[in-house]
Amino acid sequence: PTTVVDELGIALSNLADAATGAITPTIRLGVTGLSRAGKTIFITALVHNLLTGGRLPGFAPLAEGRLIGAKLAEYPDATIPRFAYEQHLAALTGKAPHWPESTRRISQLRVVLKFQSKKWYSGMTGPSTLNLDIVDYPGEWLLDLPLLGLSFAEWSVQALDRADRPGSGKEAGPFLDLLTEIDPLKDANDVDAERLAAAFTEYLRRSREHGALSTLPPGRFLLPGDLEGSPALTFAPLPPQRQAVRGTSLYAMLESRYEAYKDRIVRPFFRDHFARLDRQIVLVDTLRALNAGPAAVADLETALTAVLGCFRQGETNPLLRPFVRRIDRILFAATKADHVHHTSHDRLEAILNRLVASASKRARFAGAETRSIALAGIRATREGTISEAGQTLPTIIGTPMAGETLDGVSYDGKTEIALFPGDLPERPDSLFEDGTPVALNFLRFTPPQKLELNAAGDVVLPHIRFDRALDYLIGDRLA
Ligand code: GDP
Repeated sequence: PTTVVDELGIALSNLADAATGAITPTIRLGVTGLSRAGKTIFITALVHNLLTGGRLPGFAPLAEGRLIGAKLAEYPDATIPRFAYEQHLAALTGKAPHWPESTRRISQLRVVLKFQSKKWYSGMTGPSTLNLDIVDYPGEWLLDLPLLGLSFAEWSVQALDRADRPGSGKEAGPFLDLLTEIDPLKDANDVDAERLAAAFTEYLRRSREHGALSTLPPGRFLLPGDLEGSPALTFAPLPPQRQAVRGTSLYAMLESRYEAYKDRIVRPFFRDHFARLDRQIVLVDTLRALNAGPAAVADLETALTAVLGCFRQGETNPLLRPFVRRIDRILFAATKADHVHHTSHDRLEAILNRLVASASKRARFAGAETRSIALAGIRATREGTISEAGQTLPTIIGTPMAGETLDGVSYDGKTEIALFPGDLPERPDSLFEDGTPVALNFLRFTPPQKLELNAAGDVVLPHIRFDRALDYLIGDRLA
């Protein structure tokens, strides 16, 4: 649903990139995932590991001793917020380590990597340089792509249908009540528009809190970035009108705001940022969905289908296709793998793989190579065993965050415990076929409170399978 004008814009900006890229090759890595999936942690760990030569045996350029160095550099586009790496790292490694603030909008950061290439002629040319541009953006924004193909009336029908579903009653109630009170054909006024938008946003928020995830657009209603309160975000779906609608009516006002949302917010995001990525990692809080039950898993699959739909770029204009940059690798990562014992890591990967496979079938997705992995950007637990009734159970050891509760016990944020996290099913099929919920003991842990230092005096961030993820995402470009 992008237009020819968009494609021209993308082609031109990619040409401009190609021109500057002649000096230094650049790889643009998109990092996305729904709210709280782990983007901030992943990027902070990524940058820190690169800058300090972290413990990454599975990352070939480092393991082979070919990575010479990494440093932060000014991002070429000065209009986009910078990823607050230093602040996030300080939160994690300061005197009282705590989790940093999460992603709320798009941000970027450039890391310049210097490496010795493996290619036969590299002995003559000396070290090579690669710019790694990291683009962090909320996954919710991807869910807006389908809106580009929907009129206000069509979107309204879909949105109201969903709000009317039996399961949505409690959450959507106040919004639906307000709709019966306000006549969309009366004269437009901002007060009514704001009341409707506020009630609709509240419904979206509550449905996300109750389910494990939300798959409901518009994505900016929950993550407005810098646009909070702007007219383009102040609309709501309205029931279809049979008779002609006056241009001065409330209906016409919300319709034009919906169109503005598409034109001024959704389309530029896809054109200026999304269409220019080379690689993408999609972080998925799979464990949280598993823990919340089959409905949340189904919801996650729907969200993944929508996300994969965005990566379907095959239908671009053939004349412009050679200029359009394409994402050639997508990595799906189940985050926070340190919440289960390592015996479950392969299983977690298999579950995510299965979810992605069925989502990609539905999105009729073709193009980029994909892979699934279970990882922890920052590992907050260790492992141990406990004996119970003559049985040895694998446990994870960590400090639950203040206020976390499990089986009636509430934690103070200071006490370390050993927890049997539960097992993931050995074969993912069982999970999908009979819909049996997985019984997990799921608590949020504080980040590691004592960190090791390396020979250079830099902290070492512990992780799980993070090196493999990195190798898949950028390793080949450092070969
Ligand atoms: P974002 O919204 O995608 O940027 O999410 P964040 O990166 O801020 O992560 C949200 C929360 O998930 C953090 O505050 C942590 O509590 C938790 N988290 C993220 N990554 C990890 C991880 O690797 N291990 C653990 N134990 N928790 C994590």
